[in-house]
This record gives sequence, structure tokens and C-alpha cells, in this order.
Amino acid sequence: MFIGHGVVLRVGELFLKGKNRYIFEQALERNVRRALEGRDDVQVKPVHGRIFVLGAADEDLLGRLRWVFGISSMSTAVFCEKSIEEITAHAVKMGKDHPARAGDTFRIAARRSDKNFDHNSTEIGRIVGAAVAEATGLGVDLERPTLRIGVEVGVSWTFLWTEQRPGPGGLPVGTSGRATLLLSGGIDSPVAGHLLQKRGLELVGVYFHAFPYTGDGAKNKVIDLSRALARRQKGFRLYVVPFTEIQELLRDRADAAYLVLLYRRAMIRIAQKIAGRERITALATGESLGQVASQTLTNLGVVQDVATMPILRPLIGFDKAETIELARKIGTYEISILPHDDCCSLFVPKHPETKGHIPKATAMEAGIDLQPLLEKAFETAELLKI
Ligand code: ATP
Ligand code: MG
Repeated sequence: MFIGHGVVLRVGELFLKGKNRYIFEQALERNVRRALEGRDDVQVKPVHGRIFVLGAADEDLLGRLRWVFGISSMSTAVFCEKSIEEITAHAVKMGKDHPARAGDTFRIAARRSDKNFDHNSTEIGRIVGAAVAEATGLGVDLERPTLRIGVEVGVSWTFLWTEQRPGPGGLPVGTSGRATLLLSGGIDSPVAGHLLQKRGLELVGVYFHAFPYTGDGAKNKVIDLSRALARRQKGFRLYVVPFTEIQELLRDRADAAYLVLLYRRAMIRIAQKIAGRERITALATGESLGQVASQTLTNLGVVQDVATMPILRPLIGFDKAETIELARKIGTYEISILPHDDCCSLFVPKHPETKGHIPKATAMEAGIDLQPLLEKAFETAELLKI
């Protein structure tokens, strides 16, 4: 039986029920192990729908686990011998360590899954609670205590905890399949990627690079953003697609008001080819309804028109302020706001079309020999393994 400090990871309830439970648990365990790589002082042990990290309980560990999707909450814990005396001693210590203010209260929340243990959960609560009350002078409040001391007596472990931090929730990355994320250096698309990873998707990134209009700085930003997303999954494949020739051809031959829409349609076509090569069946973008001219409902339709696979847009209902808030929280904001050139604003007039017409877009493309350039961009895309 393990004795010492550890972290208890609780798992979202939802997916624990169906027949996929096993797959989710395995994926989560794998992702936890990956997040803890290099921490050779701890052991990862899945136990009945939870995961114990045994051997330490420090901020580095909690930080590493912060974005492991599928964890609903986590607690640092003390694992001890399975005896009521040991449990009581630890609980009393926790009570004394609590920085008590006037009027503070506590409760013991005991759970016993080892039916052979001498005391049931009510008795544990009573015995341990009496000792803590006597040692600390804290009153008992079963409803809204300021200090909750959790006690769990299992078959092969006993532990106590006081704090429960929320985990990131979601589903373990990898359990929902994969999507191809159109990743620019902006604020939105990395946040979109984060939300999709949260729902269990693994991502492959595609970045359209208009060198020299968009310089190495822009590309490096996308690489840094990919690194941030890569921390939540096993490796991150980023395709850097040369986009300059396509944009120049469109600039020379198409109606300027339609340029962004035509860029986007070209991006979707190339991204789909890449998805095909990767055996992926969905695309994803950071688009949000009405945020800019190219993201009106009509124009989303003009872009969607060339897609043969679903385009996931997790930010569709987000206000910019909400996206920024989340970007800050996940640490991509600081990278995204570094100055960079955006290929979609190249050659674009002040007043682009907000109500694009699909037949018009199609007609403009029909007059241009775009296909060979799309092929070429796809063929010459650079694959970076991050
Ligand atoms: P972002 O902050 O993600 O760039 P945005 O609000 O600036 O989004 P747009 O620039 O219009 O919006 O782009 C909308 C979406 O199109 C982006 O979220 C991204 O998914 C995709 N996209 C735009 N430019 C590129 C690019 N150069 N490479 C890859 N994807 C892109
Ligand atoms: Mg952008």
C-alpha cells in the first residue's frame, strides 16, 4: 500500500457510463503519463475510474495536469495506513494546518469502498470529526463548512484531501478522432483548436504562408502556437502551404471585393487535400459569426460551398472579448498579439463584399486557371513535426 503524497484525479462522469468507458480511461491514462514525462519521481495508477499520481503533490504536477482534458477535478492527497488512528492523526493535522478565522467550520466527508474496514463511513466521520473538533476548536457544519476534509478508504489505498481544484473537463484528446485546423497567427484559431482538443479531437495544423508578404516572423508565430497546442496531444503536424502565387493570381484576375472569399475557398480546397492525405474527415477554423466581412452568414456559406467535409467552427458564438479571455487563460494570447502580417488582408479593398454570391465566386474562379496552382501549393507544402 502506498504511503506518502499524491494527486487524485477525478474523471468526468459522462463518459464513464457507456461501453466506451475503457477507451476513454486508457486514453486519459496515456495523456496523463505524457503530461508527466520527465517526472520520474511519480507513478501513475488508474484505480476505478480515477487516476492516482503517487509520489509527490506539488505545483509543477498540478500545472502539467491543468490541460489534460477528461480530468474533472484534482486534489492533492495524503495516502496513509488503513487504520482509524492514522486517518485521525492526518485529519487532525489538516485541521490544525487550516488557517482558521473566527466562525470557521469543518466537516469530514468520508467514503468507504473497502467493506472489510472496521468502520463504515458514518462512523469514520464521527470518530475523526470528534478528534478534529477537539484538537482545533472548529465547529462542525455539514452543509457549508469552510474546511472539508475528505477521507477515502479503499481496498488497497487510504487517503485524505482538503482541496478540490477544477480540472479542465472535456474528453481525453484522441478519443473523438482528428481534425485539420486552419491555423493562422491570429488570436482566434488557436483558441478554436483548444476547444476542439477539449472535446477529444487531435489536431493537424495547416498554415497558409504568403512569403515574402508575410515574413518569417508570422511563420514562427504559428510554430509557437502549434507548440502550445502540441502540449495537449502526441506531437503536432503543421503543414506550411506556400500561398503567394495563388493570392497574386487572384489579385490580378478577380474582383477585389471577393478576394478574401476566394482566398478562403482556395484554403479550404488545399486543406481538404491535406486532410485526405492525413486520413482526416473534418476541417476547423477560428471563424465567429459576424466578426468580419468574410464571416457573415452569407459569406460563411460562400466558403462552405467548396467544402466536401464538415467545417467545425467552435468560436461561432463567441464575442471577441470571450475569445481573448480564453486565449489569455490558455497562454496563446501573448503569442498571437505579437505583430505579424496577415495574408488575408493582402490586396483587399476597404469595403469587401459582405453578401457574397456563390455563382459569382464560381464564375470568377472559372475564368482563372487556379487548379494547377492549388496542386502545386499542396505538393510543395512543408511538413513540420512539432
Ligand atoms: P484568426 O485570429 O484565427 O486569424 P481572424 O479573426 O483573424 O482569425 P480571419 O483572419 O478572417 O479571422 O480568418 C478566419 C479563419 O480562417 C481563421 O480563424 C483561420 O482558421 C483561417 N485562416 C485565416 N488565415 C489563415 C492562414 N494564413 N492560414 C491558415 N488559416 C487561416
Ligand atoms: Mg486572421
